[in-house]
Amino acid sequence: MRIVCLDLEGVLVPEIWIEFAQRTGITELKRTTRDEPDYDKLMTYRLDLLKRHKLGLPDIQKVIAEMDPLPGAKAFLDALRVDYQLVILSDTFYEFAHPLMRKLGWPTLFCHSLETDRAGFVTTYRLRMPNQKKEAVQRFKELRFTVVAAGDSYNDTAMLKEADGGILFSPPENVVQEFPQFPVVRTYDALRREIDAAFVRAAQGERTAQF
Ligand SMILES: [Mg+2]
Repeated sequence: MRIVCLDLEGVLVPEIWIEFAQRTGITELKRTTRDEPDYDKLMTYRLDLLKRHKLGLPDIQKVIAEMDPLPGAKAFLDALRVDYQLVILSDTFYEFAHPLMRKLGWPTLFCHSLETDRAGFVTTYRLRMPNQKKEAVQRFKELRFTVVAAGDSYNDTAMLKEADGGILFSPPENVVQEFPQFPVVRTYDALRREIDAAFVRAAQGERTAQF
């Protein structure tokens, strides 16, 4: 029973906030957790900016609907789902991801959610729970899945450590340096090979543990 857990942004689709900032010309929205490590402060700042620019959720979704998944992402997922269960674990919001998930063929997505007021402005965000990526992997293991996870950044490393096999996909150089224990791949073909290899290693590890 094998399950693959994938990060969304930077692995299957572009970074949504950065792409959104480019498309709308609101450069202040390029601020990320690297510039502002306090996530709550960062989100409050972002929601404030959206309101100031009079962008309600329908406007935001319209912009996101013009974005595309990374080239080859859908074919990669379609082939992966023939052989493994798949869950996407992301720190984005359902309301943002929706137009992109359509283009990916509606894979299962666990992420966070947004609340809007009557005028359609985003008023607040709801995190499913702290550390949901790592927690989800832990729960899948309790359900007796062997888990291989892949992601591109800091917010994935706890999930990669928790999984039976962890892989970095196109990570920034500082993440490569800081987490040398994870194999690094940069194409979907290489990612698929590494996922298959990680499951083989996990199965071998299990057999060794039994004897
Ligand atoms: Mg990412």
